[in-house]
Amino acid sequence: MVDASAVLRQGLLQLSRSGQIRNLIEKAPLSRDVVRRFVAGESTADAVGAATALAQTGRLSTIDFLGEDTTDLDQARATSEAYVELLGAMSEVGLTQGGRAEVSVKLSAVGQYLPGDGHKIALDHAREICQAAANAGTTVTLDMEDHTTTDATLETLRELRQDFPSVGAVLQAYLHRTEADCRDLAVAGSRVRLCKGAYKEPESVAFQDSAEVDKSYVRCLKALMAGDGYPMVASHDPRLVEIAGALAARHHRKADSFEYQMLYGIRPEEQKRIADRGDQMRVYIPYGHEWYGYLMRRMAERPANTVFFLRALATKG
Ligand SMILES: Cc1cc2nc3c(=O)[nH]c(=O)nc-3n(C[C@H](O)[C@H](O)[C@H](O)COP(=O)(O)OP(=O)(O)OC[C@H]3O[C@@H](n4cnc5c(N)ncnc54)[C@H](O)[C@@H]3O)c2cc1C
Repeated sequence: MVDASAVLRQGLLQLSRSGQIRNLIEKAPLSRDVVRRFVAGESTADAVGAATALAQTGRLSTIDFLGEDTTDLDQARATSEAYVELLGAMSEVGLTQGGRAEVSVKLSAVGQYLPGDGHKIALDHAREICQAAANAGTTVTLDMEDHTTTDATLETLRELRQDFPSVGAVLQAYLHRTEADCRDLAVAGSRVRLCKGAYKEPESVAFQDSAEVDKSYVRCLKALMAGDGYPMVASHDPRLVEIAGALAARHHRKADSFEYQMLYGIRPEEQKRIADRGDQMRVYIPYGHEWYGYLMRRMAERPANTVFFLRALATKG
């Protein structure tokens, strides 16, 4: 039988690359309210405001200036500058003290895909952002994108960590290689965010079945929790969140030696519950004009989100 949600997911992931549909949705003002459920807003002030509100309820944050697949040097530069400005604004209101709020960066947004020396351009921009984060008293996590960039991103991570050892990595449990990457990165001081993975990947590199992805996630969690690094458990999945807690207890981890992470607008009550019980909960806050690809990935993950979105289009259009 055809799996309807898998078809929907594939279609939405393809749409996330469609320029025409993107223009249509971005221009429709009615979409904006729907977008605001998952995206903090378009300005630096919107992002800082969202992080401040979360801090008031005991939640940490990581802020992402939306933009990806940059093919233009000026745009890559502008993205890097936006992060530097953001980190200054976060520091001014005291959000960065002790890393309570940090930033997440996609290397493709700062030049990784530029022809020729994209790797170096992205590295230089990432270095500027890391320096601004260090000046502000916080750090950076490098988001992970599709599998064609995994090696390059891990290479950039290694280079950045020479000067900024707290830079965080992201590993995606749907990739066959990830359990081994977890073991490699589970070393002292190494911050590693484990997520399921959000891109459409071929069978040759990634588990396709959600149960297989979940099993891989648990194997990866075991490696991270048993190691000496700092695991960041990024999932909304109640079973995985529970297993992470049990593994942390088994390895006698204190509450400050790992953290949970969830996305802005997703399971906010659960976020508060975890923070209230004394565990660390960090919320990933996206903001900026380039919200389309991000939003489509969230729709692809959960048909209920898509229904919510389509209903808003229909009722307000
Ligand atoms: C902090 C953070 C950072 C991330 N960074 C990256 C990255 O760098 N690269 C990347 O590829 N991916 C990233 N992701 C996305 C990630 O890979 C997944 O695509 C996304 O988190 C969905 O997977 P899930 O583990 O939440 O489980 P899913 O399989 O999506 O959901 C499992 C269960 O969680 C619950 N749930 C999920 N959504 C909702 C909801 N809206 N309301 C109520 N319950 C819900 C349901 O019980 C559901 O059955 C990140 C995710 C997070 C949380």
